Amino acid sequence: MFDIANFKQRFQEHYGENPVLLVKSPGRINLIGEHTDYNEGYVLPAAIDKYIYVALSSRDDTEIHLYSASYQQSFATLTTKNDLSDAPEWAKYILGVVQQIQARGRHINGFNISVDGDVPLGAGLSSSAALTCAVGYALDNLFSLGLSRQDIALIGQQTEHEAIGLKCGIMDQFASVMGRAQHAIQLDCRNLRYDYIPLQWGEYELLLLNTNVKHSLATSAYNDRRAACEQGVSWVQEAYPEVQSLRDVTLQQLMVYVQPKSEDVFTKCLFVIKENQRLLDACQALLRKDIERFGELLFEAHWALSREYEVSCAELDFLVSAAQEHPDVIGARMMGGGFGGCTINLVKKGRSADFIQQVAPQYETQFGHAFTPIDIAIGEGSSLVTSGEA
Ligand code: ADP
Ligand code: MG
Repeated sequence: MFDIANFKQRFQEHYGENPVLLVKSPGRINLIGEHTDYNEGYVLPAAIDKYIYVALSSRDDTEIHLYSASYQQSFATLTTKNDLSDAPEWAKYILGVVQQIQARGRHINGFNISVDGDVPLGAGLSSSAALTCAVGYALDNLFSLGLSRQDIALIGQQTEHEAIGLKCGIMDQFASVMGRAQHAIQLDCRNLRYDYIPLQWGEYELLLLNTNVKHSLATSAYNDRRAACEQGVSWVQEAYPEVQSLRDVTLQQLMVYVQPKSEDVFTKCLFVIKENQRLLDACQALLRKDIERFGELLFEAHWALSREYEVSCAELDFLVSAAQEHPDVIGARMMGGGFGGCTINLVKKGRSADFIQQVAPQYETQFGHAFTPIDIAIGEGSSLVTSGEA
């Protein structure tokens, strides 16, 4: 459990005053639907009960003072300074949010801020989105900016684009601000329409296994896959100019206009169309409380990501194969863009420890390092930390 009282105390020690505001914003999982976002399809994220915490106090001047408890680093700048080049990376996420708010014509005074949290970094649980959304939500409250939750998500996404240089989609930030306990968010990436889907796992529980690897192939392969999708769309567009993305493309059109030109582009585009359909089927299964069917779709999605879209890796395949062989695991797949990060598993309640014990020695022998289990529950989106919690 994250120690909020200790976090407040460290703010007090660092700034010599108590924070006036405490905010938290969660990391997220994605239940199913990978590589669908940039093809204007659906995703199915849910906020988790791991958060980035932000403590704030206002200042009378135009200075911004930042402190990261995780890195034990501080940094100071002015609200009027636009150049972020000398700021450490963690500070860029915070100052990037300030810039995005200012770019929307809102006024920000000086403030002190401290950040910390228990979202594991770089595990594919989107600690960076949790950070930008926590900061956006906190500044909105401190300066009464009148931002909506969706504004805060868009500000977080723009911060990754502009201050960090990562052209991410909107899913992570959307889940962090809009999350609802015991629900997933079926988000249509084409128009940001969304529905909450109730999650009732019955006699099962969620378990994440962090492979503790991130292969360097990730960025170049991601760009290659995007290019293949765009190529497929442009070949279909020669006959159907109204088609905007793979979301609009039918299997028939793929077979006629893409397959003869490139079997590889065809396979990649077909994956996206099928993955989108799998997500819709998964939502129906959840609504029927058919958890076994949902689990089957996870396995199916994994092997399609591995063999058709080719974005898995040996560690992820190993963990999903082990899950498939274990009698108490009814579904598992890689989560995120691929080449590392976590697998998400649906395990019979109380059987996670047995599954972990069985797989851990084999995994270590095979790969020379351990994986890390992460227990999660589905949590709420960005919120003020109440006095009951602190
Ligand atoms: P993730 O998949 O977790 O979002 P990223 O590489 O996108 O991984 O973001 C991780 C970065 O976010 C860190 O390098 C750091 O700059 C920032 N960050 C995440 N958590 C914290 C934290 N608790 N305190 C300060 N910065 C953080
Ligand atoms: Mg991130």
